[in-house]
Amino acid sequence: MGSPLINLHNISYQYEQTKALIDINLTIAEGDFLAIIGPNGSGKSTLLKIILGLLKPTSGEVLLFGKPVNQFKEKERIGYVSQKSNSFNTGFPATVTEVVRSGLVKKTGLFHRYPANVNKQVRQALKSVGMDEYSMKNIGDLSGGQQQRVFIARALISNPNVLILDEPTVGVDSKNVKSFYNMLSHLNREHNITIVLVTHDVDAVSKSISHVACLNQRIHFHGFKNEMDQMSDEQLEAWYGHAVRK
Ligand code: ADP
Ligand code: MG
Repeated sequence: MGSPLINLHNISYQYEQTKALIDINLTIAEGDFLAIIGPNGSGKSTLLKIILGLLKPTSGEVLLFGKPVNQFKEKERIGYVSQKSNSFNTGFPATVTEVVRSGLVKKTGLFHRYPANVNKQVRQALKSVGMDEYSMKNIGDLSGGQQQRVFIARALISNPNVLILDEPTVGVDSKNVKSFYNMLSHLNREHNITIVLVTHDVDAVSKSISHVACLNQRIHFHGFKNEMDQMSDEQLEAWYGHAVRK
């Protein structure tokens, strides 16, 4: 097991009316490929935003690489693809290259100059998600799954250690979901990128992941994927309030 990259200690989060997370303790280690699963409204997106420092926990502490999450430099080591990121309409006036390149803006500021080797970086990022043939295409002309790959390339261009994805296969054609997860698995294994994703595709994702966490306000289970495979349908259903496996 790799060294811990993300530590959540006793995290709780309260929106005005809603208790979204209660007493979450979770360690994500270098090299993990973790799927966080749970029904709608169970706090999955909230948890990711807390890891990213976009929301401040009501109580508890987040450590990234052993340091508090609010240290900007540490946050830069995490790539994020948010929920519903791939909702460009046809005709959106940007090429794939422009979208991927924009992933560098947060590093260089608004009136930035891209580094001299930016085109090479774009090519490498697109290659790692299997999209190197599409660099001059208009983003709006791509399928939902292809757009999602481009957004992953945008997150990867700043060489993060960790990639965080919120329901990345929403908008991906069901026949392409498997190859999408294979691509993430390749990033995890060959490019040594730790991956944390939220998904409802419990069956489709299971070949790619190393770990799984079941979340419903609290973490009901966190462990190796094969431990969860051995769990009964009834046990999972009791946590979720509905059938989890197909
Ligand atoms: P999930 O991603 O698992 O569907 P969320 O983290 O989005 O769940 O939401 C967890 C709970 O917090 C839900 O009950 C949701 O209605 C509530 N919630 C989410 N975002 C907000 C918000 N901005 N303001 C108030 N309540 C919210
Ligand atoms: Mg969500």
